[in-house]
Amino acid sequence: MVENQKCHNYRTLSYLIFAMTKDEFISRQETMKHYGHKIALLWLTGFGAFALCSVPFGTYIKQNEWVQSLFAICFLIYFVGGIVFISLLNRRNQKKLGIICPNCAKPLFRTSAKSIIATGKCGRCGEKIING
Ligand SMILES: [Zn+2]
Repeated sequence: MVENQKCHNYRTLSYLIFAMTKDEFISRQETMKHYGHKIALLWLTGFGAFALCSVPFGTYIKQNEWVQSLFAICFLIYFVGGIVFISLLNRRNQKKLGIICPNCAKPLFRTSAKSIIATGKCGRCGEKIING
């Protein structure tokens, strides 16, 4: 009984935190897109730095097998690590902006955002996301 009451209070509290108007929701979507563009630009800059390094040192890299392996390993770490880092950063930004469903924890971004703007509810669980 007490546990149910706590759960209810948490759900009410999370609803109060996450409930927003349609304009706020759209604004948060735009902010999330802006964050995404910044992260992508940063990652692509690093990708370009790898490409630029391979041009002047290309001959040296090709001649030394261990340097070639080291370069490939560094590139793989950057590539895979970048994807993991971007995923974690996106999740953090979604939490910060409150565009994660308080009931089922689904990200309320991109394709799901259109249905939420139309219905005001989470597409997965039906939780009310938008007030009014
Ligand atoms: Zn949901």
